[in-house]
Amino acid sequence: MTEQRLLVKREGDFHYPIYFEKDFSGLAQAVKDEGLAGRRFCIVSDTNVAPIYADKVEESLKEISAEVFSFVFEAGERNKNLDTVQELYRILIEEGMDRKGILVALGGGVVGDLTGFCAATYLRGIDFIQVPTTLLAQVDSSVGGKTGVDFQQYKNMVGAFHQPRLVYMNMSTVETLPPKEFTCGMGEILKTGLICDGEFFRFVTGNADEIKKLDLSMLSKMIRRCCEIKAGVVERDPKEQGERALLNLGHTVGHAVEKLKDFRLLHGQCVGIGLVAAAYLSLTRGLLTQEEYEEIRKGCALYELPLVVEGLKEQDVLAATKKDKKMDQGRIKFILMDGIGKSFIDNTVSDEELLAAVREILA
Ligand code: ADP
Ligand code: ZN
Repeated sequence: MTEQRLLVKREGDFHYPIYFEKDFSGLAQAVKDEGLAGRRFCIVSDTNVAPIYADKVEESLKEISAEVFSFVFEAGERNKNLDTVQELYRILIEEGMDRKGILVALGGGVVGDLTGFCAATYLRGIDFIQVPTTLLAQVDSSVGGKTGVDFQQYKNMVGAFHQPRLVYMNMSTVETLPPKEFTCGMGEILKTGLICDGEFFRFVTGNADEIKKLDLSMLSKMIRRCCEIKAGVVERDPKEQGERALLNLGHTVGHAVEKLKDFRLLHGQCVGIGLVAAAYLSLTRGLLTQEEYEEIRKGCALYELPLVVEGLKEQDVLAATKKDKKMDQGRIKFILMDGIGKSFIDNTVSDEELLAAVREILA
């Protein structure tokens, strides 16, 4: 199915392909086509994903390499830290992995971020391949080259930009994904449409039945378009000096809620809540009509994203939002919508405006 590949710019004239496939049968060929056959591979995965998919991936890689080994760590964001990184470094050293070695990230965002970071730093950088198994990782971390781990209580505090050599998605892996995790991916997907492609937003909300049934052709269309949009944004602004900040739509209030709820709500759910807040702010500025505002809320509700959050105080949300690291000289860098499918960066949002939006998302 090579006609389905999407080429994403890596650096200079180099590109890497993203494959949108329905199983793992094309993995070996895809790796071979990138000129990576015969290298040593270390599959990095977590304790939820490895038992389901690691054998298949290993089998496939063994068609093109005699040396494939694995490193599996305990699933969970709390293990996305430097201790796990050290364990992986140690295994790589013990196995004698040299600069030609390749890491294979098999899992969701946690595995992808950590593996990418190890690949970026081990021996000053080795190649890595992504095999994302969550909807969120498929649409979010396959493009953009951000890697990293958490440090103490700080999320993604230590990291590097490092692009994969290849992303191979077996979209059928979402069939074993807990439904809540699927919902989270949908939060980022709706966000992507709202940023710069209203038609895509309406495609996603208009085909909810098939998407929720995990119809693979529909998923393929959706995931591919989402990656394409993100790739466009990132290519125009790789280091987040301008346009790339648009990808933070819904994340300013979203991150605040995520932190205040002590990560009991998932990232994508908080993004959904953040989208509602950003939409409300845009509504009060006359940038969205009441109908458009309702359409956004309905879109989120269709995918079981929460529209409100319980048990938080408005002043706490305001303070946490203002503490977010994406501030621009003391002012909150807020992403607002100007109709469905258009967004822009604004740093004139006042505390009063923000409080009104926060009230809208508090139960
Ligand atoms: P993300 O940041 O992409 O949401 P995580 O790495 O936190 O991803 O994954 C979310 C949870 O789902 C983790 O517990 C992970 O082990 C598990 N998981 C990932 N992919 C699958 C899958 N295809 N099937 C079942 N569980 C999965
Ligand atoms: Zn996000």
